[in-house]
Amino acid sequence: MTAPIRPTVVTARDGRTAVINIGGLDAEQSALARRSDFPLLAANPRLHYLDSAATTQKPAAVLEAIQRYYETSNANPHRGAYALSAAATEAYHDSRTRIARFLGVADADTVIFARGTTEALNLVTSSWGRTNVKAGDRIVVTRLEHHANFVPWQVLAHEAGAEFVIAELNADGTLDMNGLASLINAKTKVVAFGHVSNALGSINAVAEIVALARKVGALTVCDGAQGAPHINVSVDSLGVDAYAFSGHKMLGPMGIGGLVMRRELLEAMPPYQMGGDMISHVGDQHTTWNVLPHKFEAGTPNVEGPVGLAAACEYLTSLGMDRVIEHERLLAARAMEKLSAIPGVAVLGPAIDKRGGVVSFTLDNVHPHDLSQMLDADGVCVRAGHHCAQPLMRALDVHATTRASFYVYNDAADVDALVESVDAARKRFAGA
Ligand code: PLP
Repeated sequence: MTAPIRPTVVTARDGRTAVINIGGLDAEQSALARRSDFPLLAANPRLHYLDSAATTQKPAAVLEAIQRYYETSNANPHRGAYALSAAATEAYHDSRTRIARFLGVADADTVIFARGTTEALNLVTSSWGRTNVKAGDRIVVTRLEHHANFVPWQVLAHEAGAEFVIAELNADGTLDMNGLASLINAKTKVVAFGHVSNALGSINAVAEIVALARKVGALTVCDGAQGAPHINVSVDSLGVDAYAFSGHKMLGPMGIGGLVMRRELLEAMPPYQMGGDMISHVGDQHTTWNVLPHKFEAGTPNVEGPVGLAAACEYLTSLGMDRVIEHERLLAARAMEKLSAIPGVAVLGPAIDKRGGVVSFTLDNVHPHDLSQMLDADGVCVRAGHHCAQPLMRALDVHATTRASFYVYNDAADVDALVESVDAARKRFAGA
């Protein structure tokens, strides 16, 4: 393991930390999205929701799309010969087309719906992995991974007798690309990595990782749970073999997300689950599989999920995906600067130009759980814990951090509420 990753703060100018102005945007600017578009936020004007890396709030457009679907088109899709079932089928597949467009995927049938990133990644490890990874092969993951892109590969490696290796980080919490390159060899079958770290916000150089993996013919699997919601993603252009995403982290409902995977790989893979809808013909002894995407979508599908997620994608598009990451960075930079000025606070992770809108920090002598409870009393919602990234926490040499994560409905006032609340908590603990 590498040495513990030391906290870094925003680039210092004239001896003090400074907010970096990105894209000419004004750090004082208001939220990118109207708070009034989000019923929960509108109903709670004093709430500072800073846990969007865990899940996002939902705009009325998403809630209305789901309600409309149930009021006008609800039936079991693919099953009935009647018009209402055809309407449900149409809603399901039209949503897939719209989600594929948002993700920059030309072949919509290669977007396989799943409950979310976790299920999508388990689909890859179970189906592609069990078929293709053999004893003596090597699986490479990174130290930044969420457990969802770590544990399934670790288990697969143990089952197959393959080697499981972890690419380590630079001192600032970015991936050490030279280290990664040195781990990718002729035995490497898979390189699995996150687009953006949920714990530190570090953004990975996807194209460079793909180039390294391609040289040896390894499969590239990108966990896009924190990528698709924040970065203007074109999965086709990224060049990865597989990309997983979660709808609830991008303004959509819970229970829907998916896997984008190259068609020839999906066609060669065995199904993940068996049952209705995924079959072509069931003989007494043998069964043949349906075409994509049905082959990987066994059973009655979740229709309201794609319907809501498609509406979320269009809402994000209307804001402008290029502006989302810029907006988050402004807020993150403001948070990093102001938190770093509080005695005893250490902000973890890379400089602002290498991260998204996630700011993890520690406060000396205060457990993140205690801190987050104190912030909650001020209406500030943050995450405390290991963020499903225990291998990363070991490298950071901490058990847990406090994490604020920003999204389109946050503004400078949310950051300032966070900072004031952390400072007040510090004073209370210091005086205790
Ligand atoms: N990967 C990353 C980077 C995440 O942040 C998360 C959720 O926090 C996941 C995977 C798992 O996503 P889900 O719980 O939606 O399956």
